[in-house]
Amino acid sequence: MDHQHFEKKLLNEEQMTPEENRALQSHLHDCAICSALADANLALGNVTMVTPAPGFTNRFTARLAARRKAQKRRYFYGGLILLLSGTGLLLWFSFPTLSVFFSSPVTLLSTWASFIVSTISFLRVFSEVGRVLLNVATGFIPTSTLGFSLSLFSILGMLLIASSQKLFRQIQRI
Ligand SMILES: [Zn+2]
Repeated sequence: MDHQHFEKKLLNEEQMTPEENRALQSHLHDCAICSALADANLALGNVTMVTPAPGFTNRFTARLAARRKAQKRRYFYGGLILLLSGTGLLLWFSFPTLSVFFSSPVTLLSTWASFIVSTISFLRVFSEVGRVLLNVATGFIPTSTLGFSLSLFSILGMLLIASSQKLFRQIQRI
């Protein structure tokens, strides 16, 4: 019986015959590995399962619940702090606009109104230019191409009007 044999038996904690046991005892004197394995097996065999103290489950459940509650509270306050700081930051950045609005809402409204008026006048000029170009183009562009580009322009114009109305509504909502 060699080292491999004893090592396998010790690792698998297999039962040994009295003859094997005797051979093992003499082998343990020479082999440090098998000696360590035998010591470990002996130590593991002496370990007894510790039963938890009475009421352990209840205490564990209560502690878990308390920990969850504390975590929830932490999340709540963390979220609150985040929300407050975010709002503060937003106010800080929008302060110039807000201060203008609160100090003189008329100025802001007039700014919006002038923006709208300038947009409308731009559109008017744009359509005027388009009309002039159309008048010039009618001279040397075939009628079919003219019809096509006219419908294209009208679609573009409708889109432009729709988007400007949307913008106007958004500005009114602000
Ligand atoms: Zn050995």
